[in-house]
Amino acid sequence: ESLDKGLEKSKDSFFSKLGKAIVGKSTVDDEVLDNLEEVLVTSDVGVETTLKIIERIQARVAKDKYMGTSDLDRILREEIAGLLTESNAKDTEDFEIPSGKKPYVIMVVGVNGVGKTTTIGKLSAQFKKRGKNVVLGAADTFRAAAVDQLKLWGERVGVPVVAKGMNTDPSAVAFEAVKEGVERNADIVIVDTAGRLHTKVNLMNELSKIKRVMEKVVPDAPHEVLLVLDGSTGQNAVIQAREFTKATEVTALAITKLDGTAKGGVVIGISDEFKIPVKYIGVGEKAEDLQPFNKMEFVDSFFK
Ligand code: GDP
Repeated sequence: ESLDKGLEKSKDSFFSKLGKAIVGKSTVDDEVLDNLEEVLVTSDVGVETTLKIIERIQARVAKDKYMGTSDLDRILREEIAGLLTESNAKDTEDFEIPSGKKPYVIMVVGVNGVGKTTTIGKLSAQFKKRGKNVVLGAADTFRAAAVDQLKLWGERVGVPVVAKGMNTDPSAVAFEAVKEGVERNADIVIVDTAGRLHTKVNLMNELSKIKRVMEKVVPDAPHEVLLVLDGSTGQNAVIQAREFTKATEVTALAITKLDGTAKGGVVIGISDEFKIPVKYIGVGEKAEDLQPFNKMEFVDSFFK
């Protein structure tokens, strides 16, 4: 419900734009398709994905020789759902983690300001609520604020946070955090990393070094590399996803700040381009404002 509530806030919603695109039209013709193209692009779906959707609808119109605008809503939903990659619903439905991996190690990546720390805090709260033992690692050692904020979440939620002095090697913190997780018999270790994108080579080296030290403690760690993207930045989120997927293997996405933005369409473009499962979405600042991503729910909320 909070997703609905969140997306509803935008006056210029996808649904209202779609309404304007077909007003006074009973059949889907070239003009409607042109309007629809503009609606999708201005909703931050991305040009390539927009063209893909338009082509698919064109093909359906051509095949059936006719499509009423009253069918457009349903057909668009089908096409959009087909482009969305959700995580295996069983895994994430209730913030479940795969069994047999203890501790389950999550490495969190993303640029500063996208909501990385907040997402880690929210995740810890959700896991803790479900009786899991969590250890956090503050490996974003370049920003005092990031470490302090993670400690604050740790206190609030009641989970230990492994932190070292400013400017320590992030991989040293990652190593300690995973080790602490093993020693405490924790279920989950979540490690925050520095969100610097200054050079691709640096980022790549830094992230692979963190991975290597994690592996020294738990051979198949990290089990998950979660990339956090700010959904409200639209196409910037796409550019960041390109950078990070070049620098490291990303296994899951968290897309934040989808409350109060008309740019939720970026989820569709990102899903289509990267085929990486969207695991979580952020729809506010509180712990309960992180939700497992469900594509049908998302499509429904997008059309409200
Ligand atoms: P980081 O630099 O990536 O660690 O970003 P932070 O976690 O510090 O988040 C930056 C700002 O975004 C903070 O003010 C958060 O409260 C806010 N934030 C994070 N996630 C969400 C979200 O899903 N919705 C909203 N509205 N704000 C968010």
